[in-house]
Amino acid sequence: MASQCIGNGMRRDERLRYVISDILFREWDPVGVNDIERVSDEYDSYPPGLTRVACDGGPTGRNMSDDYLKIIPTSAECVPPKRTHRSALVLLRTFFPEGEDFQVEIYDEIEFIDQGENIEAVICPACKQRLEMEHFTEGDPIVAWWYELSEAMDGTAVTAITTRMPCCGRVVRMMDLEFDWPAGFARFELNVMNPNVAENLTESQLRELEQILGCRLRQVRAHY
Ligand SMILES: [Zn+2]
Repeated sequence: MASQCIGNGMRRDERLRYVISDILFREWDPVGVNDIERVSDEYDSYPPGLTRVACDGGPTGRNMSDDYLKIIPTSAECVPPKRTHRSALVLLRTFFPEGEDFQVEIYDEIEFIDQGENIEAVICPACKQRLEMEHFTEGDPIVAWWYELSEAMDGTAVTAITTRMPCCGRVVRMMDLEFDWPAGFARFELNVMNPNVAENLTESQLRELEQILGCRLRQVRAHY
């Protein structure tokens, strides 16, 4: 969807072109000329095609990086009545006029509503220790434990998953884990892709949505 790049303005496009040209010259240098500074524009003709690929999301058709705001009930089982969904979407659109895609998702079973790359730590429900994830440290035991737990979610309902905590060794329910940044468990989700606003909804905006949907809500900010 090239329009997403255009929608974000030409500046991003130009910046991306410059960065790609610079990486081509200094790092990749497929023609082997980067020791000659006066030909530093050697790769300037390459980037338009590459930025287009980046904007189109490459062969998978996905954007390089997307930001989502997900709004879910605080009670995992709650699915607000269908008649309320449309009004909730309309209101959400007014909160994020630059948002790209607004969706209501309803799941047959309770799902883990994840924060993607925003995950920094898990808080143990038994001993309250904060388990920091060192994503860039090879063999980090907390990251390894988390990956194993994430894999357990493939084909098993999250409500049935338990895990032995790496901090205190106690066995807890996956559903009882807390996360930083926040994540949650839900059967209902309202979301907006690339809201183009760094902040989440204000408390009063959230209350307005709660009044429409008839349940308490919380927010999960995800990045992929
Ligand atoms: Zn613990």
